[in-house]
Amino acid sequence: MEVEPYYYHPLENIEDVDVFYEAVERERLTKSLSPERPYTYWTIELYDQINGIRGGGGLGILAADTRRVAEKMGVAFALITPFYPYEVRQNLKNGQIVDQHFPVNYRNFGFKLVDKVFIKCHDNLCQLDVIEKKFKNTRIIAITEPNFGELYSGTSGSDHRLYQEVALGFGGYAALKLIGLKPAIMQLNEVATFFAALARLDELVRNGMDFYEAVVYTRKHTLYTNHTLVQAAEAEFSEGQFENYVFPNLKSLAVKRWLKDKFSNGKLKLSSVTIEIAELKSGVSKLHTRVADYKDIAGNKVKFKAITNGIDMDAWVLAETMSFYHRANILDRFNAPTPNYDEGIELLSSEKIRELKRYGRGILNACLKDRPDQNGKILRFSGNDFIFDFKRRFVDYKRPDLPFRNPDRLRNILEKRNAHYIIAGRVHAGDETMSNKLRCLLEMVNRDDYLKTHVHYIADYDEKLAFGLSVGSNVAINIPIVGLEACGTSWMKDVANLNMLISTHDGGVADASINSYLSVSGENDEEELNMLYQRMEEAILAWENDFDLEFIIKRQLSAFLPIISGTRMMKDYLDYLFPM
Ligand SMILES: *Cc1c(COP(=O)(O)O)cnc(C)c1O
Repeated sequence: MEVEPYYYHPLENIEDVDVFYEAVERERLTKSLSPERPYTYWTIELYDQINGIRGGGGLGILAADTRRVAEKMGVAFALITPFYPYEVRQNLKNGQIVDQHFPVNYRNFGFKLVDKVFIKCHDNLCQLDVIEKKFKNTRIIAITEPNFGELYSGTSGSDHRLYQEVALGFGGYAALKLIGLKPAIMQLNEVATFFAALARLDELVRNGMDFYEAVVYTRKHTLYTNHTLVQAAEAEFSEGQFENYVFPNLKSLAVKRWLKDKFSNGKLKLSSVTIEIAELKSGVSKLHTRVADYKDIAGNKVKFKAITNGIDMDAWVLAETMSFYHRANILDRFNAPTPNYDEGIELLSSEKIRELKRYGRGILNACLKDRPDQNGKILRFSGNDFIFDFKRRFVDYKRPDLPFRNPDRLRNILEKRNAHYIIAGRVHAGDETMSNKLRCLLEMVNRDDYLKTHVHYIADYDEKLAFGLSVGSNVAINIPIVGLEACGTSWMKDVANLNMLISTHDGGVADASINSYLSVSGENDEEELNMLYQRMEEAILAWENDFDLEFIIKRQLSAFLPIISGTRMMKDYLDYLFPM
């Protein structure tokens, strides 16, 4: 018999997780989901470097985590996404961000060519390759061709983006048919995947279903997951663009008419039609669901069901820490918190925390070996060094520059403990404003002899660096402008890896009480900045005191573990999609 070394589970009451999962798998899922009728997940972005697909940020990270969690839970699952033949890596040259483009071959990543499908563009046939990679009960089906371009190439309302989105939707739907799969559910990860649901609607009508029945059927089986806060910010496509890329792919006149009707002044936002084609709608945190400002075509506010994002703990948490979580009965074998997880957390001592962070520090050093900072210096930290990190895309609302508004104060704080501050985050391709902001920030840092050797920017932020920093630093700083982060997942990696979290009360962080972590709040930037500096000082002191360290880390873990578990997220989706 195979022994599961760290898993121990008392079979005592009906709350028991095993009983629950068995019920889920037997009673519900087997009826609704099967290998031929999988849960389908559509995403224009996947961040899964091991499988050759590099995304831009959180949206793609979430997609990869969702598939891996489905694999562990035994859920029949197919993820449909583009395979981009080029990826962008970022470098820093003389303080300036430089993008480099590298070709990627899917054959080097275990994908197999299935066959070809065709879509129409400008009344020409465009040939798309369908490639596939299987992972137990799940698979990635990707659409690709040599001129598919890069992720988010061109502006968001451009012809090329529309082409990519149409190729994923119509091409991906044709690919499912080709492979012999029928979607039990279509989860649309943001509106760029709308065309997949449209392809289904068109097929139903073409096969003889009454148009209204087909709309109802498609709606019932489509979930639109929104990650964006303001509809107004979304790009529009013109009717002319649809004439070229979308309408030629529709066989049903009724569907074409329905879609044409949705244009207003010759323009269309995909969210307006995605809202219509999906009866099920979700947002990615409790706060996001409350503040997301979306109207349907009739002008009514759209209600989103809150299903907070989670992470695949196996992918993001240090192996030694996962062993501890399982041994202490904090996580069950599906990586969901056990009913008594709080008792397990009580077993976490300051010694254990320090020991696990020492392992993590080694991984961080290995990760930094070929990634110099802005001054070409290769960093190597001892177990005694103190590290703050700010690792997130370099965009305005996340406020990467806020901690640098008072450089004297920042220097004082770092000097007290001879601490380091690591910044990692990619600038969106072509974002001149943020690229300049980063350059100014680094110039300012380099003018100060102390900051120059204690503040480090590491270019080309990716999964590996995200992991290295989560397991190897002491304190993570997450300070988006409140109301602008939909959920965020990098802070989840920090909490799970026993970093101290300093954060504004925003996104998924606000799912928990404001007293469960080192929170930053205030009436304005200045007040928030002052509180941020206080929290940094507090964190340094807490790491020097066993009692405080233990108290803060346990409190965080206890409040957030149920929130950050990807298994919990998948269970929430299944409950929503297949109600008992
Ligand atoms: C986790 C992760 C993200 C998500 O970051 P958020 O700012 O929390 O949305 C983005 N990029 C990479 C490489 C990550 O690992």
